[in-house]
Amino acid sequence: MLEIIPFVLGMVQTNTYLLADDANKEAIVIDPADDGAAIVKTALERQWKIQAIWITHAHFDHIGGVATLIKALEYSIPIGLHPDDIPLWKMQGGAGLFGLELEIGLEPDLLFYSRQVLKLGNNFIEVRHTPGHTPGHVVFYNSQEGVCFCGDVIFQGSIGRTDLLGGDHQQLLSSIQENIMTLPDSTRLLPGHGPETTVLRERAENLFL
Ligand SMILES: [Zn+2]
Ligand SMILES: [Zn+2]
Repeated sequence: MLEIIPFVLGMVQTNTYLLADDANKEAIVIDPADDGAAIVKTALERQWKIQAIWITHAHFDHIGGVATLIKALEYSIPIGLHPDDIPLWKMQGGAGLFGLELEIGLEPDLLFYSRQVLKLGNNFIEVRHTPGHTPGHVVFYNSQEGVCFCGDVIFQGSIGRTDLLGGDHQQLLSSIQENIMTLPDSTRLLPGHGPETTVLRERAENLFL
């Protein structure tokens, strides 16, 4: 079983997800937005061992907690990112465009590719490349639990913005149709901001699609 603990962190209320396999206590963190120490504390309380950071995309509000998380862990772990978002990572996730400073001092060393299957304990999680919001955006899909971590591709009643560097509206729509709308209707969509939704609900109600 996959256990999922959501956090809302940082100045733009980003959803960070702590995931663990309840049997063997292996855990990973998706999009540590801020306050890495709080994420690590939550994992320790449950005796979970954080083994990797998986990033949906390199915007500053999804990577702002990477450095503090690794510092709080006191051991190094892989940082996963699609290579097409490495340039954005090197620009501190565009923080400067918002008048912010972000110094991570670390580089992604687990480079995702589409249809890659990641393992967390007994759970298999598929990487799907979904460019449009950023060139290297990926979502993480676990078919056993019927859950997809969507980052900033799709939200409840909305879709990701495409006016930032590397954004492409048509590409985003294609990514959603090919990689999200093809999932089973009941699939839970856990976005990078705001409340969770389902494929069925977005197909019925999302005016952007
Ligand atoms: Zn974003
Ligand atoms: Zn975001």
